[in-house]
Amino acid sequence: MLKLWNTLHRTLEEFKPIKGKNVGLYTCGPTVYNPATIGNLRTYVFEDILKRTLISLGYKVQHVMNITDVGHLVGDGDAGEDKVEKEAAKQGKDAWEIAKMYERLFDKDLVRLNVDAPTGKDRPHATAFIKQQITLVETLEDKGLTYRISDGIYFDTTKFAGYGKLSGQRIGDKQSGVRIELNREKKHPTDFALWKFSPGDSIRQMEWNSPWGRGFPGWHVECSAMAQELLGQPFDIHCGGVDHIAVHHENEIAQSEAAYDKPLANYWVHGEFLLVDGGRMGKSEGNAYLLDDLIAKGFDPLAYRFYCLGTHYRSKLNFTWEGLEGAQNALRKLQNDARKLPSAKGKSKGEWMEKFTNAISEDLNLSEALAVVWEMLKSKTEDKEKSLSLIEMDKVLGLSLAEIIGKTIQSPKGIIALAEERQLARKNKEWKKSDELRDAIKAKGWLVEDNKDGSYDLQSSN
Ligand code: AMP
Ligand code: ZN
Repeated sequence: MLKLWNTLHRTLEEFKPIKGKNVGLYTCGPTVYNPATIGNLRTYVFEDILKRTLISLGYKVQHVMNITDVGHLVGDGDAGEDKVEKEAAKQGKDAWEIAKMYERLFDKDLVRLNVDAPTGKDRPHATAFIKQQITLVETLEDKGLTYRISDGIYFDTTKFAGYGKLSGQRIGDKQSGVRIELNREKKHPTDFALWKFSPGDSIRQMEWNSPWGRGFPGWHVECSAMAQELLGQPFDIHCGGVDHIAVHHENEIAQSEAAYDKPLANYWVHGEFLLVDGGRMGKSEGNAYLLDDLIAKGFDPLAYRFYCLGTHYRSKLNFTWEGLEGAQNALRKLQNDARKLPSAKGKSKGEWMEKFTNAISEDLNLSEALAVVWEMLKSKTEDKEKSLSLIEMDKVLGLSLAEIIGKTIQSPKGIIALAEERQLARKNKEWKKSDELRDAIKAKGWLVEDNKDGSYDLQSSN
């Protein structure tokens, strides 16, 4: 039985899908105007773990993730320039080209992190769903839930009784998460744009005709329209980062439920933020790290994935370089243990997998699940059974362990000689020399790890 924390009810709930073993999962995708930060990527890793957990529990998952290539404004509210168009102007490029370029970079990061992202029709682009978005706005208009002001068509949040139920905010409250709010024509601060008009004095690269004039859809409309078309309404699980709760998801719920008189999704599951050195991560703080920055410092992208797994998705994760180093060392040890196991085919007896499944089923308790992995590796269970269990567990962890089982890397003779010399230095209590030799071994791409019984292991750090 899978339990998930449902933001909508602020409780831990047993997960019950709408259609038997089939699950509809919608995760808000990136706005493709800049490279994803490791903060953004934490959210995608969490969603990937959720999806893999569902699959491991025997569900068939239809996962939809949108690509926001239009309509997300700089202020995150309804004011300011379109992020994609602004970046295009800055780089002297075409908006479509910018969107494509950053989507490719995003995919590259996901592949490096073993995130199994949707492709094809389950990866809709906002610009390819204009018709459906217009239909949704028309439906709301027919129901008398919209109004027109000088820059667009807006949703009147006072006309949807459930407004604020996800975040607990009241109508009229200033929405948290909205950085700039310049629009004084809006009737209530929580009202939001459904369709924005192209500004009269400039020509947008991305704009379409609509019953209300030339323009483009508001950011929130795309997810509602695409989820409805691809998953149907209601669907099972909707995910995103916690910053989406107060505005983006609240607005998605308002327009979808008001339009079709049924819930949008049954479970709302949100990933907490990544902090850097205890504070906010951001461009202005100079710490909006990318996966490429980690790789440039010699880290394996999977060490970052492993780092994410160590903190529960509903807790803030404080990123530090030392923390990442610790995660990389632990991952190396895990990989080393996996390599020493024999390759095996067949089905495991399931005893360890049962413990592992119990842990992940408790609202994705990955640190508990990882503790089961270590406990199993240390146990007296026969090696073949360990291999088979680890292969199963890795389907959830996504650490590429299954591929390296039984593939011992022979340490080169030169490295072994250095390690033996270090062993002698340690015996003679020549600690400085021993440390220097450890560094020399590390510089050649190997890690030496001392065991309690006085022996040592060598692991490749690549
Ligand atoms: P965006 O491209 O801005 O829509 O963000 C993509 C995803 O990253 C969203 O689900 C956000 O909630 C999430 N996100 C943004 N910043 C962070 C952060 N510091 N830590 C974790 N997730 C984040
Ligand atoms: Zn969304």
